[in-house]
Amino acid sequence: MVLLLKLKDILDEKDKRLRFISKEVEFPLTKKDKDTINSMIEYLKNSQIEEIAMKYDLRPGMGMSAIQLGIPKRYFVVVNEIDEGEFETYVLINPKIISNSVEKIYVEIGEGCLSVNRPVDGIVPRYARVTVEAYDMEGRKVHIRAREELAICFQHEIDHLNGILFIDHIDKKNPFKGKDQYRAI
Ligand code: ZN
Repeated sequence: MVLLLKLKDILDEKDKRLRFISKEVEFPLTKKDKDTINSMIEYLKNSQIEEIAMKYDLRPGMGMSAIQLGIPKRYFVVVNEIDEGEFETYVLINPKIISNSVEKIYVEIGEGCLSVNRPVDGIVPRYARVTVEAYDMEGRKVHIRAREELAICFQHEIDHLNGILFIDHIDKKNPFKGKDQYRAI
């Protein structure tokens, strides 16, 4: 198997390009963007299949934004394992959160990111539910309602498009600040 994308292709947190504000995508998509999206899907899926991840040294990830490959365009891919070996894939282009819950949640074990290769403790408050408006690969407008882990993932990826990393949300002096205000998942 020849993998399209390798771990070394993903920018590390120290790379300044991760701080760029990505630009809106125009349709139709270029062949290059389509290829990039397919390689992102492939990486994310394989990275969640243990034998493949081990064999090819893929750090597991559920989401990836174009800017993590140094491409400053507003799109990301999420591959969500809904059952053992069963995945659903989202490709969101020019995404916007159009509504959100009042309730906020956080990942108890801490959020992860393919660009942050170290464990980071602390609370990242996220909306428990969001509705995202975006475009699919054919340029059709879509509305996606997400909750819990998927909602967190969408918010994490939209942050990337605005040059924000999850670590930015953590209070440096008090990483567990607000613990009782939000629900852990
Ligand atoms: Zn990330």
